[in-house]
Amino acid sequence: MKIFIDKNTLMKIFKDRVLFDVSAKSLTSFKTGGILPVVVFPSNKQEIEFLLSLEKNGIPVKFLGAGSNVLVSDYGFDGIIASTKNFSGVEYQDGVLNTLAGTRTNSVIGYCIKNQLTGLEFLAGIPGSIGGCLIMNAGTKNKSISDVVGVVEYINHDGEWINEKKENLLWKYRYSQIKEKSFFISSCTLKVEDGDADIIKQTIANIMQKRKTSQPLEYPSAGSVFKNPSGHYAGRLIEQTGLKGFRIGDAVVSEKHANFIVNLGKATSSDIWKIICHIQETVKKQYNINLETEIEIVGRFS
Ligand SMILES: Cc1cc2nc3c(=O)[nH]c(=O)nc-3n(C[C@H](O)[C@H](O)[C@H](O)COP(=O)(O)OP(=O)(O)OC[C@H]3O[C@@H](n4cnc5c(N)ncnc54)[C@H](O)[C@@H]3O)c2cc1C
Repeated sequence: MKIFIDKNTLMKIFKDRVLFDVSAKSLTSFKTGGILPVVVFPSNKQEIEFLLSLEKNGIPVKFLGAGSNVLVSDYGFDGIIASTKNFSGVEYQDGVLNTLAGTRTNSVIGYCIKNQLTGLEFLAGIPGSIGGCLIMNAGTKNKSISDVVGVVEYINHDGEWINEKKENLLWKYRYSQIKEKSFFISSCTLKVEDGDADIIKQTIANIMQKRKTSQPLEYPSAGSVFKNPSGHYAGRLIEQTGLKGFRIGDAVVSEKHANFIVNLGKATSSDIWKIICHIQETVKKQYNINLETEIEIVGRFS
């Protein structure tokens, strides 16, 4: 199905902040995917409300932060991709960081180092935007963003802007209820404490060193492809099936970390998708365990 989108209206509203026929490779950490017919870069709430009105009229709208947790189809996306990058900025006030949702985690960490604020070091090496982190409840085995968030501001599917306390939302391992409730997250508060810049820097350096040793950061990827099933590690299950090094085209199951699929250069999203399906089938057959993807599939796959 091809969706009709009026280019003139989009250009009138977004001016030079609308692009046509953009490669998904430029917007995703996998560096794969087809041509996206329309990409907009909203920079205020009115433009978000306009996008919601389009969605209500049958034009799908998909927000992308850093694109570090998505696999976008080689057929692109039949609708509008909206980058959150213009919603960016951090400000400290009374023990919290007021953070716009498009702000990248590394900017937040940089701000914390500069202002000697501790509590968010665990975000080091998670290459997303704060909005993406909230949608995914991103984190590590020790800490998730739900542990530090206070209030989330979002617009719901009825067009109401809401300031929701974290306690009123359900948060689980790599799941947040905000994904269903929100059309778009605009900002949040993150809890921080006074700290020492040298200690913060050292903690981050240690985290990054560990990631470098255990993850294939030299290749494009979207981090862990599968969620850990209860009582298991997805990476260990994949490794035990002997699938490390399993390759289709230029996509391969990393030798360094079996839950990573990396792009050796010219992988397509379809190559990655085929590996995902093969891993799921193999793990199901050998262990009777269903592996659920942590990454989000955007667009059409067959
Ligand atoms: C090398 C590497 C390491 C990683 N390590 C980790 C890790 O340790 N822990 C972890 O949890 N994740 C990890 N990830 C995955 C990823 O970085 C996180 O899931 C991150 O939170 C995704 O943020 P993003 O901005 O890239 O989201 P995107 O991929 O852009 O989007 C993810 C989802 O969020 C939605 N979204 C984004 N912003 C908004 C918004 N403002 N409003 C509404 N919806 C929005 C999108 O529509 C999509 O549904 C890793 C990824 C890589 C490449």
